[in-house]
Amino acid sequence: MHNKPVISFSTLLKTLMVASSPALLVLSIFAITGELDFNYFIYGYVAIVVLSMVFVVPFLSNISALTQYVYDLAMDKRMRSPDLSFLSNVGELSGALSRLQRSWENKRQEMETVITEREILVDTLPDILIMTNDDKTVVRTNRAARNIFGQNLANRHLHEIIPNESLMKAINAVIEDLHGQEVEFFLEDPSPRDFHGIIERFPIPSEGGISIVITLTDITQQKRVQRMRADFVANASHEIRTPLASIIGFIETLRGPAKDDAVARDEFLKVMADQAERMSKLINDLLSLSKIEMNAHSAPTSKVDLLRIIRAEKQHFEWACRQKNVTLRLKLHDNLPSTRGDDEELAQVVRNLLGNAIKYTNPDTDVVLSAKLTSALPDDQSMRNLTRAICFSVEDHGEGISREHIPRLTERFYRVDTARTRKVGGTGLGLAIVKHVLNRHHGALTIESEVAEGSTFSVYLPVYDDIASESEKARNSADNDELSEVIP
Ligand code: ADP
Repeated sequence: MHNKPVISFSTLLKTLMVASSPALLVLSIFAITGELDFNYFIYGYVAIVVLSMVFVVPFLSNISALTQYVYDLAMDKRMRSPDLSFLSNVGELSGALSRLQRSWENKRQEMETVITEREILVDTLPDILIMTNDDKTVVRTNRAARNIFGQNLANRHLHEIIPNESLMKAINAVIEDLHGQEVEFFLEDPSPRDFHGIIERFPIPSEGGISIVITLTDITQQKRVQRMRADFVANASHEIRTPLASIIGFIETLRGPAKDDAVARDEFLKVMADQAERMSKLINDLLSLSKIEMNAHSAPTSKVDLLRIIRAEKQHFEWACRQKNVTLRLKLHDNLPSTRGDDEELAQVVRNLLGNAIKYTNPDTDVVLSAKLTSALPDDQSMRNLTRAICFSVEDHGEGISREHIPRLTERFYRVDTARTRKVGGTGLGLAIVKHVLNRHHGALTIESEVAEGSTFSVYLPVYDDIASESEKARNSADNDELSEVIP
């Protein structure tokens, strides 16, 4: 777009006077010397002025267009370069102006790209970035900050958004002595989180008024792991210390007061053996847990036959079943496809669930072990992309577990009734191991329980189509006939 060049009357008059002044001088000499009549002097001068206008007007309008164009460039407006046909022979002004405009345009685009890139970069940072002025009023934020603290943060006081005194103190320290500060704090709202913050002074004077840059990292998960680790060490030490203290106590008694008491010695040795066995079981479970955790991120690839594992594991419990007069019923689909897994880890899952069911079921009851292919999948992250899974479940008829305990059963050392669990020889790690093994196998665990009726623990494992297609028959028998076996 071009604005029409405007030539002011005074400019036109002045230019005409300058342009016609040499002719006026010559005519005046002729008039003074009497060689030119006064009337001809006037006609001559008017003719010269009119002729001058033919050149002066386009010249002035080009100059005016050029002035307007340069002015527009200075005002950062995008204009087409003007038509300077009258001036082009004066020099290469028009070409130079086009080049100036192109380079101006390139620079502007470069700057716009840099600004957009920086904004995208700041927005894609996973950490929270908040920039304030010296009054702690928010000037700029990134997307992570807006996602957590809300969309309208600009121009609000930081204390209103993050009401934390440690953070405010650290910012004041930066404002006072210019050195960066680090701070850790906990925030209850909008959701309970731990943060690690780095506060720096903005290194150059900023036109937008930024003087303080605050970077916050969400360390909630890190803190949780730290706490869990500390709790775990405390719990494990406590679990080992208890049987150890009991063994030490008995050794002292056997060395002292019961030195010559043969009956007491036999009794104490039996208790000591039980305690030592408990410690050994605990250490084995701890080692299993740590081994499973070490391999947590590499899913097992070997083909495993769950039915074979179940049949092998049930043998280990025949004696325990006989002790409580518990009948073990197996309802296993014979054509169940194999899955991918770690043989020993899946055996441990079966062992822990079956062991618990026999431990916690009432005497003279049934424990039912079933395995089938199912399309009724639990609402679990790992089952989202599956249409069917292998389901292995263990049902007992014991005291059951009340609802509030169920979500916590897979925590390490969590027990519903500590005294009772210790009595039946539990370590409190069995279900934690089950959960970790299933996580590694992209499987799921569900627990259903009715107090005074019993509990059902169900394990879901993915079906891999390449393996499953080897036994197409299995697919047809999904959720159909069951093959029952009874032990003893
Ligand atoms: P433990 O070795 O103590 O059995 P687990 O991790 O296997 O440890 O189980 C945790 C707790 O869950 C047990 O202490 C027990 O209170 C409860 N629990 C587990 N299985 C059953 C079950 N089949 N019936 C009732 N309670 C159970």
